[in-house]
Amino acid sequence: MSLDLTKLLRDNIRNLKPYSSARDEFSGEAAAFLDANENPFNSPWNRYPDPHQRELKNRISALKNISVEHIFLGNGSDEPIDLLFRAFCEPGLDQVVSINPTYGMYRVAADTNNISVAHVSLSADFELDAAAVLKAVTPKTKLIFLCSPNNPSGNALDNSGLLKIIEEFKGIVVLDEAYIDFCPEKSLLPLLVKYPNLVILQTFSKAWGMAGLRLGIAFASPEIIDVLSRIKYPYNINILTQQKALELLANEANKNQWVDSILKERAKMITNLQSYPFVVKVYPSDANFLLVQMHDPRGIYQFLVDQQIIVRDRSSISLCEGCLRISIGSPEENATLMEALDQLI
Ligand SMILES: *Cc1c(COP(=O)(O)O)cnc(C)c1O
Repeated sequence: MSLDLTKLLRDNIRNLKPYSSARDEFSGEAAAFLDANENPFNSPWNRYPDPHQRELKNRISALKNISVEHIFLGNGSDEPIDLLFRAFCEPGLDQVVSINPTYGMYRVAADTNNISVAHVSLSADFELDAAAVLKAVTPKTKLIFLCSPNNPSGNALDNSGLLKIIEEFKGIVVLDEAYIDFCPEKSLLPLLVKYPNLVILQTFSKAWGMAGLRLGIAFASPEIIDVLSRIKYPYNINILTQQKALELLANEANKNQWVDSILKERAKMITNLQSYPFVVKVYPSDANFLLVQMHDPRGIYQFLVDQQIIVRDRSSISLCEGCLRISIGSPEENATLMEALDQLI
């Protein structure tokens, strides 16, 4: 399968000459760095970070079993989401297609870039209708945003539907796998090299416990990675984040332990929540949160806030009527939630 990237790109991006620093042109051991107007004192914070994040990308390459030319690192997943709009969507003209309900950032990034979004509804049990998504495509559609496991529903979308869209759409398919570490067997990352129009987003904010560092990944064909790299801010990942992420990524056992604990707690939470008379339904989850349909969700939400317990009210979102979204916390936090809910029976 081939992809005519030049046809998809905005004209200004196709012709863009990226910012280049002297350090891009030099590799080796320098005796003196006198090129960037840095302060010679206050090492190591005086130096600009590696704009290509080479060491970090090498580590991620080994971790994810994919070569570095398929990897773009961003200031959270927010950055590649925005850059994809800026690279491919002409403001006021182009369009994207997404699903509903899903993660709110795609619409925010679309609005920021003045791009209209066609939202295709999932089914009542949050399954993907691939034919309907493809039907919503117009000649102006550049990107399709999909999210699996999906937020706020929690379910992984069916692979056959995802693949149908990737194979039939002539533009770029962005598949957000922010929660994939909770169901790694469902990742489409092993198929990435087969599909030059596929962008897979992952993040260190969830299973890896690094939301505060702001580090997200876009995996894609080297051509797409090259475009994103040319239009990003040159030093988009700061030194603290690069260093701390390298340190934390050295310990994959930690992440695995956290995921194990969260999955065990999730199973317990499902059983516990289902026992409350005011709980109508706990939706199946492949992620670290549960979508829970209740009688009087707003009342329960407010009751929990009064107990200093914060969950997410999703009851006004389409297909999520009556629903709160509850993250799986530590065993102690989850017990606190249950004790509070016990007061309502
Ligand atoms: C939490 C989440 C992210 C993560 O965003 P970061 O900017 O990497 O923290 C991405 N996509 C979805 C669907 C999410 O729920």
